[in-house]
This record gives sequence, C-alpha cells and structure tokens, in this order.
Amino acid sequence: MEKIRIELTKEKKQKPADQSKLGFGNYYTDHMFIMNYDEGQGWHDPRIVPYQNIALDPAAMCLHYGQEVFEGLKAYRTKKGEILLFRPDRNMARMNKSNERLCIPEFDEEFAVEAIKELVKVDEDWIPTAEGTSLYIRPFIFAVDPHVGVHPAHHLLFVIILSPVGAYYPEGLNPVKIYVEDNYVRAVKGGIGFAKTGGNYAASLKAQDEASKQGYTQVLWLDGVERKYIEEVGTMNVFFVIDDEVITPELQGSILSGVTRMSCIDILRSWGLKVSERRLSIDEVAQAAKEGRLKEAFGSGTAAVISPIGELKWGDEVMKINNGEIGEISQKLYDNLSGIQWGDIEDTFGWTVKVK
Ligand SMILES: *Cc1c(COP(=O)(O)O)cnc(C)c1O
Repeated sequence: MEKIRIELTKEKKQKPADQSKLGFGNYYTDHMFIMNYDEGQGWHDPRIVPYQNIALDPAAMCLHYGQEVFEGLKAYRTKKGEILLFRPDRNMARMNKSNERLCIPEFDEEFAVEAIKELVKVDEDWIPTAEGTSLYIRPFIFAVDPHVGVHPAHHLLFVIILSPVGAYYPEGLNPVKIYVEDNYVRAVKGGIGFAKTGGNYAASLKAQDEASKQGYTQVLWLDGVERKYIEEVGTMNVFFVIDDEVITPELQGSILSGVTRMSCIDILRSWGLKVSERRLSIDEVAQAAKEGRLKEAFGSGTAAVISPIGELKWGDEVMKINNGEIGEISQKLYDNLSGIQWGDIEDTFGWTVKVK
C-alpha cells in the first residue's frame, strides 16, 4: 500500500468539557481517514484529513441498496498514559468477511490496522481519561457508484471516524430487562446475519422500538425459521449460565461473531469453567428458569463489554434472573475483560496492541 498522506486541520474543534456527559456517538474528533476503491486501481490514495462532510451523487448506490459494511472497536488510555487497542486484527479480519458477503473488494488487514493507529495518534488528545471512557473507532465502507441499477459497486470509499465515548455504566453494571422477540426476526441462515452491515440494523429497528415502548431495553432474537433457538440480544452476543454450564449460541451463519464473545469464551475456559457453543432453545431456558437452574444471563459487545440480564419476558412468562441482580460470573468477566482493555490487568492472552 501507499504511504498515508496526512493533512492536519487548521481549526481544532472545542473538546467536550465534561467527560461524565460524553454518552455514545455524540462527538467526533478533528480528523478522519479515507481511501478510495476504483475498479482497475484497487484501494488507493489513503489519507488522513480534517473531519468533513462527504459529497455523494444522489444516485450513489449505498443510499439505495445498502451495500456497506462497518466495524466498531475502541482505543483505551491506560493509567500510565499509554494507548491500547483491543484485538484490532480481529475486527479487520471480520470486516473482510463482511466484505466478501456484500461483494465489496477486500483490503489489506495489516495496513488497515496501521491506518487506525495513525489516525488515533493524530487525534490522541481526544481520548478521554475518566474511568470507563474510551475512544470509539468506526471504520466503514460504502458503495458510491452513481447508478440506480443493482450490481456490485465498482467505486467505494473506506472511511474511519473516531468518537470519544463515556462510561457505559457510570453507576456500576445494571441488569436490564429483555423482551423475547417471537414475531420479527433479524436474520436467517444464508442471509447477511453474520456480516456487520447496516441492513441487519435496519431489520432490527421496528422490534427494538416496540420493545422499548413497553419498557424493555433490548430484544432477544430467536432464529428466523422456527422462532425457537436463541441467537443474539439486541446488538450483542448472548450467554446463559445453566447449572454449571456457560452456554452461548453456536455461530451458524445468522449470528455475528463478536470479538467480545470469543474473548469471553477464552477467559471463562481459562478459569476452568465449562463453556458450550451450541443450539439453545428458549424452551430450555424457560424450563431451567422454572427449576431454579438458570443462574445468570448476559450480553457481550464492544460498547458495554458485559451487559447483565435481570429479566426475560417471553409471551406471558416473566423470568427473573438472579433476583434481577448482577451474577458472580458476569461481574468477574466484566472486571477481567475491562481490566485487560484499560491496561489495569496483565494481558496474558496477548490481545492488546499498543499504539504508543
Ligand atoms: C458488533 C456486534 C456484536 C458484538 O461484536 P463485538 O465484536 O463483540 O463488539 C454482536 N452482534 C451484532 C449484531 C453486532 O453488530
């Protein structure tokens, strides 16, 4: 790949003064990364430029047919002042898997990790320092051919933007209420469920909206064929602790392979716990709940790390989990994983990558 050209901004933005009010996705830094794909030329002209609007032809294909993919990871500021990324190679590998499914040309993964590092270095004074805060990194690729006809694009843009984000749990981990969705589905085998692409989110909005109107934080997705097997929770992977087995749905094509998910599995196994990646039906969960064998449930994802589930509503059934309180395994996993990410706990797995 070519060298990344850097054009620094002449007008630095005002940074948000109160790091306890950052929230998620409300602020963007001074710079962005961008590179072009043009058929015949491949990916070219990688550059870091001032954060700015992107001009698109109204016929740009991404606006009509949703040919796009994205990723989400974070840069963490350690107490020693270092900057860490968490398994960025996994995100870039997953992005190329999404690309393959969406007919988007692959890019060089090592180069993309370097681009992330360069951009984070340029905007490093945007990385917040308060407990639990981080710099969210959003790489995305979209089709720009001006053509209202359906075909894989010949012209695309790869962009990376950065957003300082707040602590997900300013008051500690809070178990959430989840609605088991048995009407709408998110994805089916053979579709695009395993790819990180906007279409999956568009498909999820309606269910999410109806659940939140009823007072639920997220929906638990069931499989699209039988509405029976558990898939994911909202935009997170999901784990259940039944007796002494930790269970997460196997990756069978409609579930996203979370970096947090795979890291949780490795940590849990390193503790000697039994972890199964297998089919898990909602009936099995309900039965275990009835018999007092459902000990814990939690979601896993980059934004929240671990999100404990305190209650599941499935039709007329309400399942309280661990009295609506955070379970021991959920808490310990959160402490460990977030400890590694923020550099407070030694990373014996070799997952973190130092930016500087
Ligand atoms: C991004 C995402 C996840 C979580 O993946 P992480 O790599 O752990 O952040 C889970 N499910 C869906 C649908 C996602 O888009």
